[in-house]
Amino acid sequence: MPRHASFRFCLVPSVEQERVLSQHVGAARFAFNQALRLHKNAQVVVALRTQGQTPVEDADGGPAAHRVPWTGFDLINAFNTWKRSESAGRRFLVGMDLTARVDVTGLVWRDQVLAQVFEEAVVDLSRGLKAFTDSRTGTRKGRKVGFPRFKKKSATGGSFRIRNRTNKGRATIRFGDGERVRSVSLPKIGILRVRECTRRLRRMIIKGRARILHVTVSQGANRWWISITVEAADLHPAMRHSPELVETVAEEGDPQPARHGEEGWVGVDRGLHALAVAGVSDGTEVLRVTNQRAFRRGLPRLRRLSRAASRKRRGSRNRRKAVVRLSRQHARIRNRRHHMLHQVSNQLVKNHDRLVLEDLNITGMTSNRKLSRAIGDAAWGELGRQITYKQAWRGGQVMMADMWFPSSKTCSSCGTLRKDLTLKDRVFECRECGLVVDRDLNAAVNLAAWAENHTPTVTDGAGRGVARVGDRQAAGPVTNAHRQNTPTHHDVRRRDGEGLDDVGTSQTAPAA
Ligand SMILES: [Zn+2]
Repeated sequence: MPRHASFRFCLVPSVEQERVLSQHVGAARFAFNQALRLHKNAQVVVALRTQGQTPVEDADGGPAAHRVPWTGFDLINAFNTWKRSESAGRRFLVGMDLTARVDVTGLVWRDQVLAQVFEEAVVDLSRGLKAFTDSRTGTRKGRKVGFPRFKKKSATGGSFRIRNRTNKGRATIRFGDGERVRSVSLPKIGILRVRECTRRLRRMIIKGRARILHVTVSQGANRWWISITVEAADLHPAMRHSPELVETVAEEGDPQPARHGEEGWVGVDRGLHALAVAGVSDGTEVLRVTNQRAFRRGLPRLRRLSRAASRKRRGSRNRRKAVVRLSRQHARIRNRRHHMLHQVSNQLVKNHDRLVLEDLNITGMTSNRKLSRAIGDAAWGELGRQITYKQAWRGGQVMMADMWFPSSKTCSSCGTLRKDLTLKDRVFECRECGLVVDRDLNAAVNLAAWAENHTPTVTDGAGRGVARVGDRQAAGPVTNAHRQNTPTHHDVRRRDGEGLDDVGTSQTAPAA
């Protein structure tokens, strides 16, 4: 099973290179918007035709559309036809005999940028369209997705994506080319300097343990970034949980909850007071991580910078500088939070082969205005996502406890339900058996006990092997226009090299 991982580095482009990068960002935005325009126009044209009317040839509509392009493939074709068409660009030529003729040039600057950038942007649009229709038909869960909108030009954003190809036996995207080790070579753009050490990625590639799929170059917080998605080999067996241990859990006809001399299932309670508390069913606490509240800590400065930015005159140079300072503060907060989350998830998956989390309705909870900011800051969804994919890499198991399981309100000793427990009660006190225990540990222990009782063998034979449940909060799959059958890797695609102690090492972005 191929594993998808990604790396992120900061780029140091020269002034000339920065111009080229901006040009590519602009080209990606342009292609996205133009394809959206083609799609919308085609919808109008087709609608008019079905009503029996003859549509007026729209200048921007490209070829007279007979059907609306929806898929990435159709949209790319529509865009490619358009970019060579007269509506994309033409020239009037007047000959010596003063007869004028029209010379169709198509999009004149199309050769200045890598054609792939257009394609990938159009693919993004097709994903947006699909998300919209899926959301409308109910195929897609979660928040309602709106119809794709035109992208605006922004001072601090934008990105483009390039796929890796092989040209004459050589990959088109290479790291450490030429005399500079800290560099990346991109087709058409050239060799760019990379700020961090890329050794780990290069070693993985050289040893054939990783293959670059695509890179995304983005602009943010006044810097240029490159994130690299690789298809990587499985983790070293020494880093994986013993397969026998996992196998025996799924053994049929074993009525006893699985315990193999190890601790069994470990419940992880995600909270606001403590970011995560992990416990086993016998009541032992195995991990407690205090919530660093990156956002709350960074908020005063964020407020100040945001006020400063809004006071500057619109469109002024000072305004732009202030916006950059603000975006860097946002990035700093984000980096601190992610650093923390990676540490926690690494610690959990490294030491425990079976983890059980609560299936949280985060979208629902964030609608509580008093708590939404704190919940967003804790990033429970991201923590769950990281635990899920990292545990999959290590061959361990992650189970999601039922959303309605009252893990906080149940006594972990006698099982009595305390319905009057409020969010303020930090300590759980049982009126039946007199247990007094930390609220979060109580919840974690309950989760662990729940998992022991819900291992596939205990429920029924049919549910066997379903213990590795994906987190509902995990991000969607990466689709690719040219590879329709990409393996599902919905939970293993974010920045993270090997998933070990990578936090704080070379691949982690520095605080901007
Ligand atoms: Zn009790």
